Amino acid sequence: MRQFKYVTNRTLRNKAEEDKGRIKVLVPLDSDTAQVDYICPECGHSEHTEQEWIRPFIVKCSNCSISMKIPKLKEEIKKEKDREKRKAKLLEKKNAKQNQ
Ligand SMILES: [Zn+2]
Repeated sequence: MRQFKYVTNRTLRNKAEEDKGRIKVLVPLDSDTAQVDYICPECGHSEHTEQEWIRPFIVKCSNCSISMKIPKLKEEIKKEKDREKRKAKLLEKKNAKQNQ
C-alpha cells in the first residue's frame, strides 16, 4: 500500500448551505502533487484532477469555476461547535417560551 502524507474526504456545502458536494484529496508521501476527486457542490460536476499540494488548498471546478476550499479540520470543528451552541440556545429560548 502507498503511504500518504495527507488524506481527506470532505463534504462540501454550497451557497444554499446544502451538503451537495464532496472532495477527496490524496497526497502521496513522496510527492507534492495532490490527487483530487471532487463533486462540485454548486453544479454537480465530478472530476478527477491533480494539482500542486499547497495550503490553503483550493480546487476550482472546471465546469462552473467556483472555488472549493478545504477548511482546516480545527476550524471546521469549531464552526460545528458554534452551530451546535446556537442550536442549543435556540432550543432553550423555545422551551422557555413554552413554559411561560
Ligand atoms: Zn461546478
